[in-house]
Amino acid sequence: MGLFNFFKKKAGLKFKKVMIIINPAARRTGKYVKMIDQFFCQTPIKYDYKVTSEPGEATVIAQNAVRKKYDMIIAAGGDGTINEVINGIIGTKAVLGIIPLGTINILAQELGISSNFTRSLETLFSGEVKSIDIGKVNDRYFVSMAGFGIDSYAIYRVNRKLKKYLGVLTYIMAGFYSIFHYHRRKIDLNIDDHRIDDTGFFVVIENVSSYAGIFKIAPYADVNDGLLDLCVFKKMGLIHVFRYFLGIALKKHIHYPDVRYYQCKKVVLTSKNNVLVHTDGDLIGSLPAHVTVGNKKLKILVPKND
Ligand SMILES: [Mg+2]
Repeated sequence: MGLFNFFKKKAGLKFKKVMIIINPAARRTGKYVKMIDQFFCQTPIKYDYKVTSEPGEATVIAQNAVRKKYDMIIAAGGDGTINEVINGIIGTKAVLGIIPLGTINILAQELGISSNFTRSLETLFSGEVKSIDIGKVNDRYFVSMAGFGIDSYAIYRVNRKLKKYLGVLTYIMAGFYSIFHYHRRKIDLNIDDHRIDDTGFFVVIENVSSYAGIFKIAPYADVNDGLLDLCVFKKMGLIHVFRYFLGIALKKHIHYPDVRYYQCKKVVLTSKNNVLVHTDGDLIGSLPAHVTVGNKKLKILVPKND
């Protein structure tokens, strides 16, 4: 069977025009730009690709592509690239495809999209379109998670240049640095219009269950239940951070008396101090934050469950 006939029967052809947005800052990307182009030019699909050159550009490219009637937008990069692309296509008819080229690829992992380059391309043709929940922090959409406190500080400490060469190790180094240098800053939470009020020093809000690719901070999180899963860590300091870390690694943390787990639709987080906020691993500012879920869905191409 020739390539053309192969693709003719596949999902990719349901789309009229495909825009591929490639982030060259993601690890390993250089050689993939060529491979992606070579792969698509063998298919009968009408496609264009654009390589981003600065943060935020993927959102603008995605918005313009939707305006020009591209009906599938592929994010080739990490979770940060995916985040930028969804911020450009939410609320439109465009479908998101993923070629995972990032350091960790949390969303791809959650949805069963292979981090193997060739297999991820196959998903673009053999997969099916699903709708999943999308969260929002102030004006910014997120698809995997939002973090408030020490993890945002660690992201702030990540050396962008080193990240390109050392990958995950850069996050581990920044993580260790933060454990010793982060000053505790209290966060006040108002959940579902004061249904619950709570306080903590580190808050993670999850749409997916995975955290950093290897942990499950929110084991009950489901991308389809219309709810946010919230983990509130109520203490901070060297001993507590190590205790939480161990608890998370052993999947026991949600049973700790000083860890709270909630499912909700809306959270307002405030602090008297400057608490950094990240969505899908990229810093977006500091508290206060209004976090919601459920008004809009993301259409995304995922592997078919046979
Ligand atoms: Mg959910």
